[in-house]
Amino acid sequence: MSRPQPTTDFAELSRRAGLPLTHHRQVIYETLMAMPGHPSPEEVYAKVRRRIPAISLATVYKNLNRFLKAGLLQEVSVHHGSLRVEVNDHPHHHLVCSSCKKIEDIDSEQIGPLQVRGRLPKGFAVQRLSVDVIGLCARCSSKKKASH
Ligand SMILES: [Zn+2]
Ligand SMILES: [Zn+2]
Repeated sequence: MSRPQPTTDFAELSRRAGLPLTHHRQVIYETLMAMPGHPSPEEVYAKVRRRIPAISLATVYKNLNRFLKAGLLQEVSVHHGSLRVEVNDHPHHHLVCSSCKKIEDIDSEQIGPLQVRGRLPKGFAVQRLSVDVIGLCARCSSKKKASH
């Protein structure tokens, strides 16, 4: 499956987001771009540390949050227990395994057009619609069968 890669370089993205360009941020962003899927801050930290051994998990967290606020990253979902981020800004939804917490992307077309019907609370501005399909992934459901 090919994903559209953001074409703009980080210096340009930072400038547009009004985020001062730092070496830490540059490395964190490059690391994220090389991590497909939905990494947790801990996973990002483990990779970033190979390039900046002195960096702390707190610094990685802080910068991921700055990226989220600046719109350079997307937060996958707030209710899976821990922060997961992604650079995929193509509209899509998620299949979430309730057992191992694995998150997979599915294209919007596989769910069908979504609409917000009815009146939203006053002042609420929709940024995106994202659906979580909760279930058991193939591995977890075959494990479950095997244990019966
Ligand atoms: Zn699973
Ligand atoms: Zn995703």
